[in-house]
Amino acid sequence: MGRYFTHYWTGQTLDFNPEGGRIGHTAGNRFRTRNIGRGDRIYILNIRSGKVYLIGALTAASPPLSDSDARTLLGEHIWEADDHLVAIPGTDSILRHCREITPAILSQVRFLSVGGQHPLKYKSDGTPDPQSIRGVRELTSASAMLFDGLLDEDSESGSFALLEEIYPSRRETVINRLYRNRAIVTELKTIYNDTCQICSTRIMFRNGSTYSEAHHIRPLGGEHLGSDSLDNLLCVCPNCHVKLDYFSISIDPEKLTVSEGHFLNLANIDYHNQKVVSS
Ligand SMILES: [Zn+2]
Repeated sequence: MGRYFTHYWTGQTLDFNPEGGRIGHTAGNRFRTRNIGRGDRIYILNIRSGKVYLIGALTAASPPLSDSDARTLLGEHIWEADDHLVAIPGTDSILRHCREITPAILSQVRFLSVGGQHPLKYKSDGTPDPQSIRGVRELTSASAMLFDGLLDEDSESGSFALLEEIYPSRRETVINRLYRNRAIVTELKTIYNDTCQICSTRIMFRNGSTYSEAHHIRPLGGEHLGSDSLDNLLCVCPNCHVKLDYFSISIDPEKLTVSEGHFLNLANIDYHNQKVVSS
């Protein structure tokens, strides 16, 4: 489903991001060129005195947002950058400056490039070469699992259990759920021909293929306990999707495009709208 990336934070970015809260967001200037989209998971790294630290992780809620869109969504406290990624609520870990990735784990990490898989590079003194983890790099899924394991050990992070709720494909044990979900999502996108039910946007790529996303009106994970069914789904564009995820827009059933045969559970829409008012 999603892909996995590392993103390097400099000491300056760390100073901007005190420990303790959820990571929520990251920003830089390489996300658009790497074609990062909803469901891709980003692991934040930093290197100090020859040690590599896993600052935290998040699963992107949408393709990169512009600086002004990110400020509208999150507020003015974020740092300035070309591309902003915001987390799907609940998929982000606690931010820590000193969560060390031990040399034993580092030696198993593999990056993906055009040439295939390659390990971290080391300097002649045996410490990791900072140059080899700068910027944004794609990781193998096995490496991502190692990082998620480290985050799982951090009991307060609690990120992975919820991630699994939202992205059942991440672990094979719930593969049946994945197939059921895919069939419903395909049905939904077919009904609406990839057209956003909220703003009528229909994204078309140069090769003529179209793109939309499925939003669970009452979220599946965490305290929400929404259902994975057609009456709880909207076909939306990435822009509307991220705003819905953050409860920053309400849903007006009168203004939605709803096709014949797609019955929406109005109680779920009420649930969403109450969250918008109370947040
Ligand atoms: Zn839209």
